[in-house]
Amino acid sequence: IFNFNPGPAMLPLSVLKQVQEELLDYKGSGMSIMEVSHRSKWFEDVLQDAIARTKRLLGLDDRFRVLFMQGGASMQFCLVPMNLALGDKPLDYVDTGTWSTKAIKEAKIQGKKVRVVASSEDREYTYIPESIPIDEDAAFLHITSNNTIRGTQFREFPRPKKVPLISDMSSDIFSRRFDPAPFGLIYAGAQKNAGPAGVTLVIVREDMLERVPAGLPTMLKYTTYAEKNSLYNTPPSFAIYVTGLVLRWLEEEMGGLEHMEKTNREKAELIYGYLDSQDFYRGTAEPASRSWMNVTFRLPSEELEKAFLEQAQQNGLGGLKGHRSVGGCRASIYNAMPIEGVQALIEFMKDFASKNG
Ligand code: PLP
Repeated sequence: IFNFNPGPAMLPLSVLKQVQEELLDYKGSGMSIMEVSHRSKWFEDVLQDAIARTKRLLGLDDRFRVLFMQGGASMQFCLVPMNLALGDKPLDYVDTGTWSTKAIKEAKIQGKKVRVVASSEDREYTYIPESIPIDEDAAFLHITSNNTIRGTQFREFPRPKKVPLISDMSSDIFSRRFDPAPFGLIYAGAQKNAGPAGVTLVIVREDMLERVPAGLPTMLKYTTYAEKNSLYNTPPSFAIYVTGLVLRWLEEEMGGLEHMEKTNREKAELIYGYLDSQDFYRGTAEPASRSWMNVTFRLPSEELEKAFLEQAQQNGLGGLKGHRSVGGCRASIYNAMPIEGVQALIEFMKDFASKNG
């Protein structure tokens, strides 16, 4: 089945096979990686390998630390303002839909001085605001790089000179190259483009760690994870292991981010090209803001959408239902979705349109 689920999402088949092969005996240990101590050499190597691959893939220099945390991206909505606010400086947020809105809510709950500096709420979050006002004196500028629900994505990131950029990259990390220099912190729940659910990747620039208030509870401080290399307490070891395998696949089988980006662009151009060539299906994101990861579209009626989803499933195309908050259809075409999956989807869409149009 081609799995178009938004997350947990499709994983590369070769990764799943390797997990299967190693499941009962990890590298001659006689144990599953799930059973070995997180302080053993076996797990230490898994952790270091995942960190090194993250740094190589994203081109992170020594100023950046790679942490593995729990609580999902949703926990980061709360930890970012808790750890990185700076005196009474405003916390600037761009609101591009559900996940940004939730991040904003968590900062407000803490009584922080939040400013929504740009928003696409006026047109139902179907676009990315063209110009983002940058106040270099703010504590940070927070964006959501890809809006999983609405199917919009930043093509270019804002380029502040001083104020650190913070991004929720849950649904497009490792999908394309970008310059990490303006980023103070990046976070991503692994379960879309990086691995299984249960681990959250946090990339933090070292100078940001100086902001962490001493009085925060230990488990809520980024410094705890940085100082103990994500091993202050028991980490989600199996999820980190699988994430490491996905990163190995990206580097060694897919040719790194340059090649992955090219493939992702091709997949997106194929499906949007088809959407633009006909008028049965209607893409919901404005063309300049279209996501390469989540393609959202509607059919002429909800009855047809229901039939489309049922028949797609019967044809081996799963997970195409839109998010429950917006309805419609959504094809999530993360890194692990091969171009053949997108081609199969388009063929099915053509066939369905010809029978029902
Ligand atoms: N941010 C984005 C962009 C997402 O797509 C999601 C989940 O779909 C989340 C945050 C929430 O992530 P989690 O379930 O890991 O808390």
